[in-house]
Amino acid sequence: MSTVPFVSAARLKEITDRYPTPFYLYDEKGLKENVRALQEAFSWNPGFREFFAVKATPNPFIMKLLGDCGCGYDCSSLTELMLSKAVGAKEGDIMFSSNDTPAEEFLYASEAGAVINLDDITHIGFLEETIGKIPRRISCRFNPGGIFQMSNGIMDNPGDAKYGMTRQQIAEAFRILKSKGAEEFGIHAFLASNTVTDEYYPRLAEILFRLAVELQNETGAKVCFINLSGGIGIPYRPEEKPCNIQAIGEGVHQAYDRILVPAGMGDISIFTELGRYITGPFGCLVTKAIHEKHIHKEYIGVDACACNLMRPAMYGAYHHITVMGKEDEPGDHKYDVVGSLCENNDKFAIDRMLPEIKTGDLLVIHDTGAHGFAMGYNYNGKLKSAELLLREDGSVELIRRAETPKDYFATFDSFPVYEKLSEDPCFS
Ligand SMILES: *Cc1c(COP(=O)(O)O)cnc(C)c1O
Repeated sequence: MSTVPFVSAARLKEITDRYPTPFYLYDEKGLKENVRALQEAFSWNPGFREFFAVKATPNPFIMKLLGDCGCGYDCSSLTELMLSKAVGAKEGDIMFSSNDTPAEEFLYASEAGAVINLDDITHIGFLEETIGKIPRRISCRFNPGGIFQMSNGIMDNPGDAKYGMTRQQIAEAFRILKSKGAEEFGIHAFLASNTVTDEYYPRLAEILFRLAVELQNETGAKVCFINLSGGIGIPYRPEEKPCNIQAIGEGVHQAYDRILVPAGMGDISIFTELGRYITGPFGCLVTKAIHEKHIHKEYIGVDACACNLMRPAMYGAYHHITVMGKEDEPGDHKYDVVGSLCENNDKFAIDRMLPEIKTGDLLVIHDTGAHGFAMGYNYNGKLKSAELLLREDGSVELIRRAETPKDYFATFDSFPVYEKLSEDPCFS
């Protein structure tokens, strides 16, 4: 699905004439179509809404674009809340699904009209002390423990995860919240990540729908929404098949009709907090080969590094690479494609069969639209790249400029060394 870049070699060359590599490029058309397909798959549920997981691609232009498509925002930090507010989020447009939450973030979320999703039962008292009340509409995060396994072997380990409340706690939390004035309840859970299967959401939905029926019976709390959170995956590898979002929506629909409707709870809204699935395939990292090195192995050194894209170094994640202009040439060279960090795990690909790469070639690193730029860092004093948006009309817009040394040194600005730095010819 994603082995063909969404931008042509010729167009990319034009773009790099104007914007130096490395940079992230996002595809407006693909993003919009993808969101529409998700909304279509859940259109059977009148209250359906996607709250885009801001952490995946925290860029206000991307967020605004998604907001204009009807998405809300899922936040878990102060700056994510600030960004969401700045791009126009109003009352109810933000889901605050945080954990280990600082008091000031609850306060900010409350003032921004976010729906607060409590990660722990002890946060009830903490929230009440912090904001002086219990909101009328509130959500609790559930963690069933144990191992969550699907038929194709994909699994995750909620029993080992720091998130959410136990079954007993969530019932107790509902009782307490109700006694303190909460009227509209939500249930949230995130039990497996990057699931490239149509089975995950329907399985999760079934668990949460049953829980909703039980909790409403046990506590009298009115469940208004069920938040399936993130976790739908994307095919990073060429041999993987993309999820069928229509089938996923239908699977959730069936569980809804089987469990919620007979319980008289057919008015519950379904929410999602997808990140990776929304933006992952519609962003790429564009980098240039700047060195060819022949030692015990063949290396191609590029001008991006793990600071621009951490996933390969951190998780050993596979990201497909296209050598632009050489799409039809045989992959008969085995390379490690590396960045410049003084860390041997700074490799975008290891033993990858690719066409012969020459210095100056442009490489597109696929499926980096989510958790790509966002996980960037500044190790070795490396600077974060620019982000560009390929508009539907084919034009390109700079949606974040690249960092400069001045940005990197900005936190020294109250120290004497700043004067020396600011006199350096490279300081700008
Ligand atoms: C990370 C996260 C998401 C998004 O996850 P994806 O894997 O990108 O879909 C959604 N909700 C919460 C609470 C998260 O922590």
